Amino acid sequence: MEQMRFKPRPFVKPVKFKCKFCLDCCKGRHVYLTLNDIKRLIDAGYDPQDFLTISIEDGKIRFVLSVREWDLGCVFQDPETGLCKVHPHRPLICRIYPFMVSKKPLGIKGEKKFEINGKSFWLYYDENCPGINDEDGDTITPEEILKLGIKFEEELEATDLDGFLKILRS
Ligand code: SF4
Ligand code: SF4
Repeated sequence: MEQMRFKPRPFVKPVKFKCKFCLDCCKGRHVYLTLNDIKRLIDAGYDPQDFLTISIEDGKIRFVLSVREWDLGCVFQDPETGLCKVHPHRPLICRIYPFMVSKKPLGIKGEKKFEINGKSFWLYYDENCPGINDEDGDTITPEEILKLGIKFEEELEATDLDGFLKILRS
């Protein structure tokens, strides 16, 4: 099956969104986990051996959500229904998608810079997501996604091996 890829469109004003639980969304993606994500999933009864992959990127340890070998689907996605089995506990980055917060502009017409605490961000949504612009959906604002994006950056920055070992020991 061809993998769906993020097709960015500038997210500069509120849009409606309602997830359709299509089967492609949670496949072939690189989902970074923060220490809070890992702790939440462990507290919910999941074994890190079953959902966590460790990688080294630019000399920094990264914790990434594991995928199934046969279709690169996230281990928490039901392959039949497309539903997330850990929806209430899902990682922060999954709460942001189909939106994206970037620290650099992508050079797309209509994009806009958001500034907060002296830092600049550019927001996008995935045009390939069929839940975007659904009239029955919830209204999502750039401000709320920006807040989640900043929280993700801060949590990822604070994610390291020591913190992970502390969670395992607690
Ligand atoms: S692509 Fe959009 S509609 Fe489909 S499962 Fe993902 S978030 Fe939901
Ligand atoms: S945790 Fe849930 S929402 Fe996130 S990639 Fe896996 S199945 Fe999708």
